[in-house]
Amino acid sequence: MCRKFEILEKRTLAPKIKEIVLYAPEIARKVRAGQFIIVRVEEKGERIPLTVADWNRNKGTLTIVFQEIGVSTYKLGKLDIGDRLTDIAGPLGNPSKIENYGRVICIGGGVGIAAIYPIARELKKMNNYVISIIGARSRELLIYEDEMRKVSDELKITTDDGSKGRKGFVSDELRDMLAKGVKVDRVIAVGPAIMMKVCADVTRPYGIKTIASLNPIMVCGMGMCAACRVEVGGKTRFVCFEGPEFDAHEVNFTELMKRLNAYREEEKIALEKYLKKIGEVKPNAN
Ligand code: FAD
Ligand code: MG
Repeated sequence: MCRKFEILEKRTLAPKIKEIVLYAPEIARKVRAGQFIIVRVEEKGERIPLTVADWNRNKGTLTIVFQEIGVSTYKLGKLDIGDRLTDIAGPLGNPSKIENYGRVICIGGGVGIAAIYPIARELKKMNNYVISIIGARSRELLIYEDEMRKVSDELKITTDDGSKGRKGFVSDELRDMLAKGVKVDRVIAVGPAIMMKVCADVTRPYGIKTIASLNPIMVCGMGMCAACRVEVGGKTRFVCFEGPEFDAHEVNFTELMKRLNAYREEEKIALEKYLKKIGEVKPNAN
């Protein structure tokens, strides 16, 4: 008998990137591609928004993939099979709009590959021709390659250092495909804000509808605290309940990136203090 919010499986996908399968039957029953949950690892802990990468409605499980980047995600990564999360809120946000668009390019960068995976899978089920472009800094950081291959008609890989696939960014591959005249009906991108910004800049001159799944600092997840506000089309929008997906051509990415960095110094100090407390050395800079 599984206990609510219990960790049933755990694997390390890459250095500092972990996948956890959790027992959360009510959420597993309802969740759809593009939605996220907010987890807490302790009573007084921060709320951590994480995209649902997969689910099993019969088993009542959710799969999340996260990068250990600061105190809260480090704490999450320390939990083991059999441990329980303090709580999980979800499913939150709006599901991705899955229709038959024709030819769709799904782009995932870094840990965002796990987030684009269920979207690509559902688009494939709707008979879209799915071209996926996935990228990471280097070969060892590339996750979900097999999963993405299974749900894509074509899979392109890029790494910043050229250790796997094309050397360069996912946006370079996108740029070349469009320049070669590949006809595309829709692009959807999930990854670091800068990656989504550049992808939007690439598709803009072609007038290709481009969707980005935004990842601002988010606290309540229910539209009350306004932490996740982002400017889209000149208007303030709340990513938690109006998003997380928006028309990438309308998003003010400069503001989003600025706000993501607002607490960098405090986060750095908190992580150093935490690592000292648990006796671990400082991680590689992210
Ligand atoms: P900190 O040291 O506190 O922060 C490191 C950086 O993470 C900050 O500079 C900031 O840019 C960002 N961050 C900090 N607090 C938050 C917060 N409350 N909400 C969002 N970003 C924050 N990450 C994954 O690895 N996998 C996912 O599937 C995933 N899905 C997300 C879905 C949504 C809708 C959003 C909004 C974020 C998602 N993130 C995901 C980002 C993840 O929530 C943050 O990396 C995490 O909260 C950082 O917490 P920390 O204490 O470990 O790091
Ligand atoms: Mg934090």
